[in-house]
Amino acid sequence: MIVVIDPRRCNGCERCVNTCFEVFRQWGEFLRPSFEVKDEVFREKVEKAARDCPRKAIVIVD
Ligand code: SF4
Repeated sequence: MIVVIDPRRCNGCERCVNTCFEVFRQWGEFLRPSFEVKDEVFREKVEKAARDCPRKAIVIVD
């Protein structure tokens, strides 16, 4: 899956990092607007992070 974070929406609260550190750590380190997650084992947690994002800044592209 491809994870896209809209920097205009994100407020940097790091809730996504707490929900799925394994994936969103990448984003925190490199601040890339999008990145690929090859390991599907994280899909459920990434989907939860997207649902729980207070700014609705996370989009998952299959
Ligand atoms: S949860 Fe949403 S608003 Fe908070 S840091 Fe992650 S992407 Fe940004």
